[in-house]
Amino acid sequence: MDFTKNPETAVLHSGYRADPTTNAVAVPIYQTTSYQFEDTGHARRLFALEEIGNIYTRVMNPTNDAFEQRMAALEGGVAALAVSSGQAATTLSILNIAGTGDNIVSATGLYGGTWNLFANTLKTFGIEVRFVDASDPENFRRATDERTRAYYAETLPNPMLKVFPISEVAAIGEELGVPLILDNTASPVICRPFDHGAHIVVYSCTKYIGGHGNSIGGVIVDGGRFDWEKHAGRFPMLNQPDPSYHGAVWTEATKPMGPVAYIMKARCTLQRDLGMALSPFNTFNFIQGLETLPLRMREHCANAQAVADYLAGHPLVAKVIYPGMSASEPQERVERYLTGGRGGLVGFELKNDDPEAGARFIDALQMIYHVANIGDTRTLAIHPASSTHQQLSAEDQLATGVTPGYLRLSVGIENIEDILADIGQALDASADAKAVAA
Ligand code: PLP
Repeated sequence: MDFTKNPETAVLHSGYRADPTTNAVAVPIYQTTSYQFEDTGHARRLFALEEIGNIYTRVMNPTNDAFEQRMAALEGGVAALAVSSGQAATTLSILNIAGTGDNIVSATGLYGGTWNLFANTLKTFGIEVRFVDASDPENFRRATDERTRAYYAETLPNPMLKVFPISEVAAIGEELGVPLILDNTASPVICRPFDHGAHIVVYSCTKYIGGHGNSIGGVIVDGGRFDWEKHAGRFPMLNQPDPSYHGAVWTEATKPMGPVAYIMKARCTLQRDLGMALSPFNTFNFIQGLETLPLRMREHCANAQAVADYLAGHPLVAKVIYPGMSASEPQERVERYLTGGRGGLVGFELKNDDPEAGARFIDALQMIYHVANIGDTRTLAIHPASSTHQQLSAEDQLATGVTPGYLRLSVGIENIEDILADIGQALDASADAKAVAA
């Protein structure tokens, strides 16, 4: 039976059924650093990649393996690599194919931390990031040259919440030989980027996948569809002998394992050298989260839609930002990509242009948490301009979709009446400073 066909089943049954030594049904936490080799021949074969098996937990671990297989199944990919944070996933996804003198082309609609990584830290590594407006997919083509190694974007960019034109940009990438890497953190289950032509998917598991706000982690999923050999000149790191791995050519060495050159190289070189390993304890939490992810996403989407509708009809609200609600966004695109719902994030702007009104809204919340996070079971709120996007210039904030009055909600799975009641009383307080003091 194929356990990978439907997401609800894939997250429960793919990749692991029972522990081979104890028959335990829950995935055990293999809290070990290392693994006994059967003999020196076994060790030699493992290090030479002639046989796949456990060597050291920085590079692989059975708990992580079960999670990686489930994530690959959920996404319709061929393999995955679990890492210590969403930021680690993004960083490794780029460093795996780009080095000094190379560039990537990225959409401007990015999480603030990714913006900083791209605009500043990657620059110190000699990697240029060319930011383009994704509302015209052709901007990716225009910014491409012979040193372009990847296109990067968020499926549902937070906080802009305008769905990315996946197949349009992936098609340009296929033509020019550039893979599309998508951060799908805000839209697991509701969008499967590989179905639309994306090549690599990254996640911050810290958000919806873990879902309970208790662990930081990330994952890179390889779709296995990009032809690295066809574009060998663009990807020397995958097609030329790697001196760090006794001269292995990754596209050749991994052939017997399937189209996994990209993810195997990331594991065997970058994870080995940079050590962004995910603790199996955190992985266990992600496996628990994953089991109910499809169920939770349905509830997040239903509650968020109700919140968006409520805000759209509220007299104190100037604008609601939610997929499908903007006249400037092609509706056809929203429907084509967000097949399982519109997501759990809702942005809005108050009519009151007093810069303190947003702060009063946040400070008046009673149930909803004021935290720098999304994708929790609980409803969360934040004012990005003064928090997650504070380190960006005013101009860069606008490019990522953050206006001074923007408020973001990550709508949880509480009873919708309680969510709306808290938002309603905080809106009243935003209009009246005295109400907060009372
Ligand atoms: N990608 C997106 C869309 C995010 O919202 C975040 C964090 O907020 C990250 C990546 C980074 O993830 P992490 O905090 O797990 O490093």
